Amino acid sequence: MTDHVSVTDLFGSMVFDEATMKSKLPKETFKMMQASLHYGKRLDPQTASVVANAMKDWAIEKGATHYTHWFQPMTGITAEKHDSFISPTADGKIIMEFSGKELVRGEPDASSFPSGGLRATFEARGYTAWDPTSFAFIRDNTLYIPTAFCSYGGEALDQKTPLLRSMEVLGRQAQRILRLFGAPTDINVKTTVGPEQEYFLIDEKHYAARPDLRFCGRTLIGAKAPKGQEMDDHYFGTLKPRIKAFMAELDEELWKLGVLAKTEHNEGAPAQHELAPIFSTTNIACDHNQITMDLMQKIARRHGLVCLLHEKPFLGVNGSGKHNNWSMTTNAGQNLLEPGDTPHENAQFLLFLVAVIKAVDDYQDLLRISVASAGNDHRLGAHEAPPAIVSMFIGDELAGILDAIEAGSAYNARESEMMRIGVHVLPKFPRDTTDRNRTSPFAFTGNKFEFRSLGSSASPASVNIVINTAVAQVLGEFADVLESADNFNEALNELIRDTIRAHKRILFNGNGYDAAWIDEAKQRGLSNYRTTPEALAHYLDEKNIALFENNKVFSRTELAARKEINEENYCKVINIEARTMIDMIRREILPAAARYKTKLSETLTVTKAAAPDTDLPYEEETLALLSKYSAAAFHSLKTLEGAVDSKDKPTDTSALARFCGDIILPLMEELRCEIDAMEPLIPKSDWPYPTYGDMLFYGN
Ligand code: ADP
Ligand code: MG
Repeated sequence: MTDHVSVTDLFGSMVFDEATMKSKLPKETFKMMQASLHYGKRLDPQTASVVANAMKDWAIEKGATHYTHWFQPMTGITAEKHDSFISPTADGKIIMEFSGKELVRGEPDASSFPSGGLRATFEARGYTAWDPTSFAFIRDNTLYIPTAFCSYGGEALDQKTPLLRSMEVLGRQAQRILRLFGAPTDINVKTTVGPEQEYFLIDEKHYAARPDLRFCGRTLIGAKAPKGQEMDDHYFGTLKPRIKAFMAELDEELWKLGVLAKTEHNEGAPAQHELAPIFSTTNIACDHNQITMDLMQKIARRHGLVCLLHEKPFLGVNGSGKHNNWSMTTNAGQNLLEPGDTPHENAQFLLFLVAVIKAVDDYQDLLRISVASAGNDHRLGAHEAPPAIVSMFIGDELAGILDAIEAGSAYNARESEMMRIGVHVLPKFPRDTTDRNRTSPFAFTGNKFEFRSLGSSASPASVNIVINTAVAQVLGEFADVLESADNFNEALNELIRDTIRAHKRILFNGNGYDAAWIDEAKQRGLSNYRTTPEALAHYLDEKNIALFENNKVFSRTELAARKEINEENYCKVINIEARTMIDMIRREILPAAARYKTKLSETLTVTKAAAPDTDLPYEEETLALLSKYSAAAFHSLKTLEGAVDSKDKPTDTSALARFCGDIILPLMEELRCEIDAMEPLIPKSDWPYPTYGDMLFYGN
């Protein structure tokens, strides 16, 4: 930690935030900026020029020489193109310049970013458009301007564009509902997100020695270490000095950029950790999560560590997720998922609650799709992660209340009257829902929902686009009903009751890891898409296209492009993994086994020649086992190679994705079993790679 600098001074010191704007912008301009920040008002070009100039002066004061439009193409990471502020003058000198035009719009060449076929039909050029609702910041002497990235035809080529669209439509529909409850007409609603980020840290020398980690971010082979996570001694355990130093530096760098890093702790698996920020407006939370992931990786290197963001870097220990805590807040600071104290507040809360329940039930497939990736497939349904089936947990108390509403009965023994929403009787809601169901994918945790299926490496935008749009859709349907009702309270009561009745199948308070749940979920008609290709096959179901088109979040073309990009990405990942695995086994592991077999047989030959009756059980048995496993592994290797290089591989992307998932991956798993069986037979000095034990338990 920088000496003598207080955290309050440090926080946001590199951000052109509201307070900075207030001090740097003329009063009128600041007001326009505020309207843009809080009410999404467009800035006129003149105002933008004034903002750009002030931003540049501030950035130069802070040592910046360059600026970049910073955007989030469909690669999963961020992109930037740096330009310096310099501009030549007539006398051969330069001035530092930055115009409103440069602030508002950039034109990076879009042709090298994934576009899922949008490029074929539209121009290759793309443009970036300033998102004034996410503050510009300075990193490495560069002014970063958060932007959306679109094709020339206006098609979204990034994560931010649809995210902003989804926030806008949710805001509009929530506003309709709140007005019915008597809110002022200009009430404004934004969604909030707090993404808890899990990650692994390992020693950089182990990372450097493992091609699978370098190329794929996960281990493709590796026998279990004698110790895993069974002792539960890592979770919330004391931090090793090197980890502590890493976290301290990470916090400091994040704070400078205005990221509300709050909680840092060890996670369940050895070498696994978590960072939880304080929640913020969704698009800012997503930008901040991208910054967080990027800084984690860069700062880890300064401590001789490597940060692994993959969902499942190690088999047999927990994988990493990104719990997406989500809620909706008004500009008056009211959390719409916070149970209230009065019947009126509670009626409103219940309406929003059942809206989310209906949204999750209606679009459970899209939620699954929004977390689908090759990496996350190793995690969903595994021991520590929620199953691929999307269900919701709302806690026993709230479930009891919904039951009573549905049955039109009293909520508990002390109350004799039937439950009537918004009229009079309503039970006191328990504020503290400490009973957590860790196995539930979508859990109500007191005043927010926590969606746990998202993978650690993914942008949180993908799931929030779906949640926002689905909830907006339902709120819109609700508003249609309620706005035309003669008796608001009656209609409200009926709507809540009917919604519970129609959608309670999505509520499940039991153990999501239980095999019996899979059967029960099937009976309930819930979808269970185990793999990414299986899930993506439903992306373009008519009801999903209708959802996104109705709410103007994605056009059919944009959606088709996204499906294509996701499928392509899945195929590429598995192809790289298979080739890496083949390479490691052919060039290092089988040769290592062969060398050791030679040593063993030499010992046997020499010893037996000298003394034919010597008993050499270790040498004999190990030689036999190694011969068996390497023969089997070689056979599997050839089969895998055959599949990877097969001339009959499907050319259609969806079919190829299924081929990768159904043929290539199982072959890789089989091969891995044989290699992992060989590993403990070969002396450590002869094994070419750091072991699980080395990587997961690496001392200080
Ligand atoms: P945990 O779930 O680990 O018990 P908390 O309940 O304190 O921890 O919060 C977890 C995450 O949820 C934090 O990132 C927090 O900022 C976020 N969170 C809390 N309230 C909200 C909200 N209203 N909207 C979105 N995220 C929230
Ligand atoms: Mg949590």
